[in-house]
Amino acid sequence: MIKICPACSSTWAGGVHCEDCGGLLRDPFAVDAAQALPRGIWGYIRLQYGARRGMLVRVMAFLMVPVVFGLGAREAVLWPSPWNALGIAGAALAGFLTWATVYWLAGRAVKIWVLRKGQLNKRRLARAMLKRVIKSSRTS
Ligand SMILES: [Zn+2]
Repeated sequence: MIKICPACSSTWAGGVHCEDCGGLLRDPFAVDAAQALPRGIWGYIRLQYGARRGMLVRVMAFLMVPVVFGLGAREAVLWPSPWNALGIAGAALAGFLTWATVYWLAGRAVKIWVLRKGQLNKRRLARAMLKRVIKSSRTS
């Protein structure tokens, strides 16, 4: 269960008091959370969960290396003499490429789906500010 400090926006896995500033921690899923917590906190929570999801995918990618290598090598051992060594080396390469591909894709996914959402909000904010500037320059 995640808990948040309204004073410094630190997140904690449970507890009562913030270990950074000593403030009282709040439950973000409580009924009064919308009033008790600062508005920007939801984007921050989404960012944290998104980054964590990317990290889990990368761990999964690492665990896939022995599986890919094992499946490839099991097939390659049965091949005739010069080819079996090549096949095992190829299985090792395939394992590495699987890891590298999933690792890279996880990084891209976090950049596109997690970090870009914050950018879109910033762009909307900039547009709103621009509109306000234009409006105030027209009236003056
Ligand atoms: Zn705090």
